[in-house]
Amino acid sequence: MHFYRVSFRDFERGSLNSNARSGSRRCGRFFFRNRIRAMPKLTANQLRFVDEYLIDLNATRAAEAAGYSKRTARQQGARLLTNVDIASAIQTAKQQRAERVEIEADAVLQEVYAIAMADTNGIVSFRRECCRYCWGVNHAYQFRSEGERSMARAAFQKRLAEARKAKVPRDMLPQFDDGGLGFRAKRDPHPECPQCDGDGHGRVFISDTRKLSPALRSLYGGVKHTKEGIEVKVHAKDRALELLMRHLGLLKEEVRVTVVDELAARLAAARQRRANGSQGGS
Ligand SMILES: [Zn+2]
Repeated sequence: MHFYRVSFRDFERGSLNSNARSGSRRCGRFFFRNRIRAMPKLTANQLRFVDEYLIDLNATRAAEAAGYSKRTARQQGARLLTNVDIASAIQTAKQQRAERVEIEADAVLQEVYAIAMADTNGIVSFRRECCRYCWGVNHAYQFRSEGERSMARAAFQKRLAEARKAKVPRDMLPQFDDGGLGFRAKRDPHPECPQCDGDGHGRVFISDTRKLSPALRSLYGGVKHTKEGIEVKVHAKDRALELLMRHLGLLKEEVRVTVVDELAARLAAARQRRANGSQGGS
């Protein structure tokens, strides 16, 4: 039984690039199918040996699993490993495995990067929004709609009638506070507003978490109802940032310690050499 080499490496890489995580699972299947064809001149038993050996790098166990007798499995395993074609097949598979791990690591690193760089405001933000008097005409009460204004006017008429009945002096009668229509809560406060002094109202806003960007999705850790209200969880940015800095070599303390230790050892060795040398010379 003979097998022929086909070009499958590029194919595997291609499938991985599109999506590192699901790609590696997908490639597992293709990898197996293509590897059988790709192995140069290996028998079915030898192929099985390679597959088994790659599981735990135990040649004796792999030889046994590949159908060689238990008694000679140890010698057979050692012999099979020295076969050039088998050794090359193992080498290739190991290299591919290393590449896959690297791509997985890249995907993890990208996730960490997303967490470190994402703006938490995209999930939960504290906003200052305008009050009813910020944008009303002459900073009078601004209504959202005509319906809202009619209801307020009706309530006002009732208050006015009661005041007249109670013989409230004319200049003390209530006035209808009408700053016009068009109130929108999301507008910024008016800096000169006499009611709120430009501070508006503070409001906590939680984004629709179904519509978060991929970066914010990485940051988002779920939501919980508590006695105090809704609790939004986000992954620790400082931890992600620290991991990222370590990976990029931006956290130097540990490195410096190693270098200093190494340097000290080398200097000591050099001093020792010089001492030995000067002794030898005298
Ligand atoms: Zn205001």
